[in-house]
Amino acid sequence: MAETDADSDDGPDAGALRTPIVAVLGHVDHGKTSLLDKIRGSAVTAGESGAITQHIGSTAVPLDVISKMAGDLVDPTDFDLPGLLFIDTPGHHSFSTLRSRGGALADIAILVVDVNDGFQPQTLEAVDILKRTATPFIVAANKVDTVPGWNPNPDEPIQVTKEKQSDRASSDLDEKLYEIIGELSDNGFSADMYWRVQNFQANVGVVPVSAETGEGVPDLLTVLMGLSQRYLKEEMSVDVGGPGVGTVLEVKEARGFGTTVDAVVYDGTVREDDQIVVGGLNGPIVTDVRALLKPKPLAEIRTEQEFERVEEVAAADGVKIAAPDLDSAMAGAPVRVVRDQDVDEVIEAVEAELADIAVSTAEEGLVVKADTLGSLEALSGTLEEHEIPVVRAEVGDVAPRDVRVAGTANEPTNRTILAFGVDVLDDARDLADQEDVNVFENDVIYQLIEDYEDHVEAIETAQQ
Ligand code: GDP
Repeated sequence: MAETDADSDDGPDAGALRTPIVAVLGHVDHGKTSLLDKIRGSAVTAGESGAITQHIGSTAVPLDVISKMAGDLVDPTDFDLPGLLFIDTPGHHSFSTLRSRGGALADIAILVVDVNDGFQPQTLEAVDILKRTATPFIVAANKVDTVPGWNPNPDEPIQVTKEKQSDRASSDLDEKLYEIIGELSDNGFSADMYWRVQNFQANVGVVPVSAETGEGVPDLLTVLMGLSQRYLKEEMSVDVGGPGVGTVLEVKEARGFGTTVDAVVYDGTVREDDQIVVGGLNGPIVTDVRALLKPKPLAEIRTEQEFERVEEVAAADGVKIAAPDLDSAMAGAPVRVVRDQDVDEVIEAVEAELADIAVSTAEEGLVVKADTLGSLEALSGTLEEHEIPVVRAEVGDVAPRDVRVAGTANEPTNRTILAFGVDVLDDARDLADQEDVNVFENDVIYQLIEDYEDHVEAIETAQQ
């Protein structure tokens, strides 16, 4: 960017369109990682150098490469969005990027469902979150290559036009696909095979794919691009010269830089030396950007990343931010640059976003701990639906302090900690044994709640 643009907040770049951010959700082993790898791999094959840009925590695929990958399905002249940005970490970590209020979000989600396995607990969790956050999504009905009777043809999209029905589906596959459509409808979504969907905002399209052979990936990209262009374009308008706004994906040590945050910037620009406010465990952290780090070009995907410093990043982009005092930063929390505003205003904005996520707590109830703000919100939301009271909800490992809080409960069933995707510290575990506090650990919300409800039932039976 030219210096003059960078210096003027209302310069010619105001109103530029950013790349839509896509997250991949679904049950374990249904193929989230394989699908992301396939998309990245085919992007590299389709384009020359520069086909994809590795960001921190995400991968950007430009429109011309998507168009090549999708064959005749995507005509680049029909689009003015720059491409798609895929969040690299699938599953629960993406929850934190799926918040509709406050901080950041994935603009669209791909819900991966193994056609053979159908809806599973984590699929339902994901669906709940998508519903609650009103995030548009499409379903990738994955592993079609394993269904008997499937006729593979990796060179052709599965469904070329609405008129031409797929001649590759088998009755076995049809049946499985209709089961998925049925599950979606049981969960309150109107869904259909994607080639019959007219309005992707009102209806969920199901795209048969194989992350193994790559079949259906062109179709998937076509639907993602079409959906973004038609329904998300206005939300993609960013103020490139304005103060950066983003979300923390992960809080990590980086050699030579201490604690850093990996963040996705979804509006404005972040520059070296900018003052930033980051959501932390004990409230907003005010600090200055010491360095902005990006993966070195040509760095191998998914190997130890080597970084290079950049002077600035603009939306939508993934970047590692090195700054002092980030130890208590939280995954899922907002990051905001202070530029032309009062620092107090920005602190207030971050506090408001954190409060928005904070869950209502009862006087007496369980203690819940989760790995990110997004997953904490998801877990708390589900507990509320089950009318299970919560006395304390926080991001982080289970510590002795949590056990002491749970130990003050009067109701025996409330002497409980639910740990979602976090560790239980050794001294906390010892203390829990002594204090007769039950700690349930799981990476699946439904499982966690089921374990707790079984426990309550056992206590009630014993009391009778
Ligand atoms: P994740 O846990 O959802 O990220 O699932 P993975 O991507 O790790 O996939 C789980 C397993 O399913 C791996 O052994 C993959 O090789 C396999 N797998 C994923 N997608 C496909 C597919 O489309 N076809 C076949 N045959 N296997 C697949």
